[in-house]
Formats: sequence, structure tokens, C-alpha cells
Amino acid sequence: MRAPIGRLPPSPWRTPEGEVGPCGSVRGGPTSRHPLRASRSCGPSFTSAQCARQSEGPHPRHGEPPVRRAMPSSGRALPMSEIAAPHLDRWYTYDQLTEYLHALEGPFGQRCRLSSIGTSPEGRELWMMEVTDLTGGDPEQRPAYIVQANIHAKEVAGTNSSLTLAWDLLANTPEDIDTHALLREVTFYIIPRINPDGAEFALTGGEIRSRREDLREPNCIYQADVDGDGVIVDMRVERPDGGWKAAPDDPRIMIAREPGDREGTFYAVYTEGLVHDPDGCDPGYAARSHDFNRNWPANWHQEHEQPGAGDYPFSEPEMRAFADFVYSHPNIFGVLGFHCGSSAVLMPPSAGSVDDILPADLRVFEELGQRAAELTDLKLMPTINYASKPPIALKGHSADWGYQHMGLFHFEIEQGNIYNASGTKTEDFLAEYEGFKLKYATEIMRYHDEHPEQEMFVDWHEVEHPQLGRVEVGGWKKYWMINPSFETLREWIAPGSSRFIIEYAARHARLEISDLDAEEVAGGIYRVRARVMNSGGFPTNITQRAMALRSLKPVTAELVLPEGAELLSQKRHFAIGQLAPHARSAQLEWFVRCEPGAELTVLARSQRAGVAEQSVACRSGGAAL
Ligand SMILES: [Zn+2]
Repeated sequence: MRAPIGRLPPSPWRTPEGEVGPCGSVRGGPTSRHPLRASRSCGPSFTSAQCARQSEGPHPRHGEPPVRRAMPSSGRALPMSEIAAPHLDRWYTYDQLTEYLHALEGPFGQRCRLSSIGTSPEGRELWMMEVTDLTGGDPEQRPAYIVQANIHAKEVAGTNSSLTLAWDLLANTPEDIDTHALLREVTFYIIPRINPDGAEFALTGGEIRSRREDLREPNCIYQADVDGDGVIVDMRVERPDGGWKAAPDDPRIMIAREPGDREGTFYAVYTEGLVHDPDGCDPGYAARSHDFNRNWPANWHQEHEQPGAGDYPFSEPEMRAFADFVYSHPNIFGVLGFHCGSSAVLMPPSAGSVDDILPADLRVFEELGQRAAELTDLKLMPTINYASKPPIALKGHSADWGYQHMGLFHFEIEQGNIYNASGTKTEDFLAEYEGFKLKYATEIMRYHDEHPEQEMFVDWHEVEHPQLGRVEVGGWKKYWMINPSFETLREWIAPGSSRFIIEYAARHARLEISDLDAEEVAGGIYRVRARVMNSGGFPTNITQRAMALRSLKPVTAELVLPEGAELLSQKRHFAIGQLAPHARSAQLEWFVRCEPGAELTVLARSQRAGVAEQSVACRSGGAAL
């Protein structure tokens, strides 16, 4: 049973008359059954062309620090009538993603702009879509939510979900939250594909975590499309000492040879590829696998203790570009990463214990996480429990970085994999799954047979390998193993995740100036009083952890004087500290000598809660000193 979705109380973001988004009417398509969502449609009809290429081996990994820069208009922006919601029934190649992002700027140019936070080692842009109101004010002064997806190369569904968030904000899709009003107060930084090189290779069907360097060592296989069919799958070769055999009821499925297995045909299984400098012996592998989600500085350990960690924290150019962006944007108050492991909503810790989270923060984490779980039909769990034998310790992981280093409520949404798609619950998957068990192998093959149009599995077929002789090529395209079904993506994951992020953002801390008055207390002398308060849903520090880190600047307030006015008080600026929501306001007072009717302005700033500004004209009367 899916969890019931509770309705929210009336939102302050929805205008009374119910503002209609610029794309209120979109082209027809499948209607979402998600209870909090208006109907949606499919976007421009991209082909599902894939882009097989040979793995190109080592490439430079330590380039210049990437610099964010605006991209010149490509001239490819589409008119509004041509743009629609992103696809949730296919995966995006880099070119298709680039085209869609540029296209969004056409009808929605007042609320989004595309830039690149850096360039990948293979020369692709790390696209960042900034979604906010661009018609006035400084977007970098607004509290901001950042989303990154596809850090793991095969987990391409995160791109679709990120684009869904952008679309929902731009097209004002929610029925009860006016996202266009929200965009006047909050900025969204959406990075739909932080690892475009990895994703592009993953879409060939080959094996890759985040980056894989197939080293050109003698007699070692490097991944390549041997039979020229445009995809990279597996090769099986009959060997008396092979460790694999075909499943008795379905010879497409390869299962591990049991101890004592002597009868039958046995195979060696390799990834599809060519052998570098072959010597005729059985080939091996020489690859270095990078896991960008072990490359964060929190609890980072070297490769021998944490495979995939990289040479040092943020050593990978894509991760360093992300870090450079985040550390230069102290307005960020929320962060989420999209992944495609067995379905779950993950919160910290990713190593250590839940006791490492401050109690006040843990309560909010659980409240927020439960809401995410409810909206996505997933289960909330701390990352340390996301394993068959918990607790685990993921070192150098983003969740601990987000909370422990940045003091943010960091979430990951694991959108689901092929096992979930074929009907397995995450609890059962984690409890039972060790290795590639026949039960699961059979279920995912059934799922494949029910969805032949998705072309997830390539039937084994004989190929004359230029180096190995006769082999069979076939097997799973690896990326299909680690993405959700289109049905759950469309009905729950993408709309639910988007909804969660929008609700979180709508709860942002919000500075407000009230009771501002400038009253004459003696001839030409005015007493200025004001309150600065937080009328949002988070404290201005967001987490207690952020207080412990001592990295946040205090909320400040200052009095801005017109020409000719003289401040009689000693201080013009006040450091207020951090403000809890609706808990206490800071009461401020200045004395000024100026002309009657002069306009004075109070300006308050917070790194994570934005800016508030209010002006008042000096008025006569009131009590004498
Ligand atoms: Zn992942």
C-alpha cells in the first residue's frame, strides 16, 4: 500500500486568485496520479539514440579549478509552444539534456538562466540551471536550495527528476504553492548531471561507477563495442575452469558455479571489450574506479580503506567544481542528491552513529525525511543502515559533508533500481541480497520480458572476437540495473521529490523588519526603532550544527542615512546573532539628526535567510527627551 499523502495547510505562496503558470496548458500526455500534482506531459520527442564509443582509457584528472561562467545564448531556445515537461519515459543523453536546458530559457527566461560550473575532463559542461525570479533583486542574496544528480554515472534517472523540479518551479505546476511567488524569495541551483562524462559512457551499457579508467596494461581488457551494435555489454567464453554457468530454466541468465559443480558447460564472463597487447593467455583487467560520492572531505579515507575515494578530497574535477560553487554561495540552506540505489530516502550519518547528529537537528531531519518518504512512497533511513548488514561506514560521503561540514539538512533520494522495478521491496532486497542470486536474476529477466521496448538485455549472440576468437556477446546494459521503472519515476519519485524540495524551500528562514518608526524626540532629533524577526520556518542558522561550526556570520542590521543626516548614536551596524523562527525579534534603536520628512532605511542581512529592507519617513511629535 502506498502511504496516504496529507494535504498541506493553505500556503502563503498561492495567490488568492490562483495564479496560472505561463505553461498552464501543456501538450497532452500521461496524467500523473500523484495526488499533489496537476497533469503533466512529455517534452519534445528526442530519439533514444545512444552513444557507444570505445573507452578511451586514462584522461587528465587534475585540471585547472573550474570557474562558473555564464554561457552565451545558443540561439536554440524554443518558443513556449514547443517546450513541455521533461521526459519521464526515457533517459537523456548529454546532447538531449543540453538541448532541453537551453530550450527552457526560451519561455522561462525571466525565471531561469543556464550556466556551467565547470567543464568535465572530456570537455562537457557541468550545467547548472539557476531557477529564481530574475526581474529584480539579487538572486545570490536569496536563500538557496541546491540539487545535484547523476554523480554515479549509471544513475541517470536523477537527471529526469532534477529537470522535473525545474519544470515544476517554472511552469508553476503545484496546485497549492505559487512557485513564482516563491522564486521571488528563494533561488534554486539545479545541477541535473554533475558527471556528464560518466553518464555518457554509462548509456553505452558499459560498467562504470563515477569514472573508470581502463588502463592499457598488457593482456588486459578495456571496455569497447566489439560487435559494432552500439552498446557495450558482456562476453562469455566457454572454459573448463569458468566460474559461471547458464541458469537451467533460462540460459540467458548467468549464475555462479557452485562448489563441486563438475557437469555441464562453464564460462568465463568478461565485460565486452578488446585486449590490450594480448599474449594469448586468459585476459585480466586493469582499471581504476572512481566513486565521486567517496571524494568528499568528511571522514575521507584513502583508497585502501575506501575504494573509489580518489587521491584526496575533491580531487575529481567535477566534485571540485561543485565544492567551489557551494563554498562561494553561503546563501545555500538546503542540499539534496539524486541517486538510484534500492529505493530509500537517506539522511546522515553515512559513517559513525546517529548520536553524532545533534538532538535538535535529528528531530528536524526525521520530520523532513518522513515528509520526503511520504511524498515519494519511499522509506526514510540513516545512510549507515542502508546495507544488508548495517551499520556501514561510507567514508568521504556527501551526507556527512552536508551535515557535519556545512551544517545543512542533507538528503539523498535513492530512486530505486531494477530489483524494485521488478517488485522487490528495499527491506527484502537489503536483507536477502548477497551477490547475484538466481531468484532476483529470474525476476528482473521477467521484468525485461514484460518491457521489451526498453531493450535492457541483449541476447547472447556469437561474435568472432579479433583477439579471443569465438565468443558470445550479450547480457544486461548495466545502467538499466540501477534506475527505477518509468512508472514509479513518473507517478511518485520525480513529482514527489520535486514536491519535497519545493516544500522545504517554502519553509525558508525569512527576515522581516517590523514596527519601524522614526519619531522626533527633540528639535530635529529623531529616534529610530525597529524590530528584526525571522518569519520563516527554519532558524537563520538552519541547523544547530551550523552554530557549532562557527562559520556563519551573524544576522546584521544597519541604518542607512540620507545625504545630510547625522547619526548621533555610536553604532550604525548591529550584529544580531541568529534568529529562531517566530521566537524572538531583535529590538534596535538609533538616534539621528536630520530634516523632517527625511527617509531612513533599515537593512537586515542573513547569509541563509536573505535580505530585508524597509524605509520610514521621519515624523514630528511624540514625547520630549
Ligand atoms: Zn548513487
